[in-house]
Amino acid sequence: MSVTSAKGLHPRTQAVHHGTRRSQYGEMAEAIFLTQGFVYDSAEQAEARFQGTGDDEFIYARYGNPTSRMFEDRIAALEGTEDAFATASGMAAVNGAMFSMCAPGDHVVAARALFGSCLYVLDLLAKFGVEVSYVDGTDLDQWRAALRPGTRAVFFESVSNPRLEVIDLKSVADMAHAVGATVVVDNVFATPVFSRAVDQGADVIVYSATKHIDGGGRALAGVICGTRDYIRNTVEPYLKHTGGAISPFHSWIMLNGLTTMDLRVRAQADSALTIARALQDHPGLSRVIYPGLPDHPQHDLAMAQMGSGGTMIALEVAGGKDAAFAALDRLRIIRISNNLGDAKSIVTHPATTTHQRLSDEAKAHLGITPGLLRISIGLEDAQDLIDDLTGALAG
Ligand SMILES: *Cc1c(COP(=O)(O)O)cnc(C)c1O
Repeated sequence: MSVTSAKGLHPRTQAVHHGTRRSQYGEMAEAIFLTQGFVYDSAEQAEARFQGTGDDEFIYARYGNPTSRMFEDRIAALEGTEDAFATASGMAAVNGAMFSMCAPGDHVVAARALFGSCLYVLDLLAKFGVEVSYVDGTDLDQWRAALRPGTRAVFFESVSNPRLEVIDLKSVADMAHAVGATVVVDNVFATPVFSRAVDQGADVIVYSATKHIDGGGRALAGVICGTRDYIRNTVEPYLKHTGGAISPFHSWIMLNGLTTMDLRVRAQADSALTIARALQDHPGLSRVIYPGLPDHPQHDLAMAQMGSGGTMIALEVAGGKDAAFAALDRLRIIRISNNLGDAKSIVTHPATTTHQRLSDEAKAHLGITPGLLRISIGLEDAQDLIDDLTGALAG
């Protein structure tokens, strides 16, 4: 087995080569090691393996796998962390990152505007004796007030779902580190391409690889990026015993996804900016929310933190739910669904789907209005998407 390193090279080169493990056959493409277990040459070797595995030694697919290790090494190199652990889904990653490090009596501060299942995981932590305080993520005073000496961790989406609020990662990380807290960032909307999370102070970065890393809406996967000590001594024991392991086949899909991710995500973000600009003054819309537009409340922060407005746009349709539904039903290219980061453009009506379980008060608080649409911009021609949207809004 030989392992390719592209350390120190540019992200696109790393995304194609880093971490490739070639067997004695010298296969060009990354192999799928679709095996649950591994054979030992002797009883002594089995004993030694269970005492601790080296980088290229495996025991059981729930603990680790060569194909998955390639994916972990590659995303860690791209993200700039020492190590990474791949999981069965983005939620297995969020659950693994938080539950593995928290104990009853710990205190966690989280931004309120979170993916619904992330809120569920935090509620579960609270059920097991972790105190969770919620803040408005864009209000640094609220973070300051909620943090206290001994706070175990902070958790937030660097760009929130669905209203695309950008959280000041560096300022929150500085405050969190001052009280000794670990900074955990769900970085899905920022994407690994526009992530500078480690540079800005994140300690742990979690991704739903289901989104931009796959890029084709094919498979569920997740990944936790962090220090070697945290990944191997905190996360790995938790995940290997609780069963959140990724399938080697899905790791292989994600490795292929990483190869083209930079090209795809940059093209999608370019289209998102073009589309946001084209729709900005549309009479059928009361607001176009895109961090890449100068009128976005955190536009300067988004540019400093990500260098891009990203691949997601939110629109407020004038005329509320009826007008929003009518527009959705007239779309011909953009599909109604709830994934994101796909090559196919996808539109979501959060109030009646992803966020429907929230109370009316909670929706109002998070700005999930009846007319709000969230759009994940795909790889189609931007002009065709503009025509689709303006045609749908014209009625
Ligand atoms: C999709 C998503 C998740 C969960 O990922 P799965 O792969 O669906 O489990 C978590 N956080 C954010 C921000 C997401 O968009």
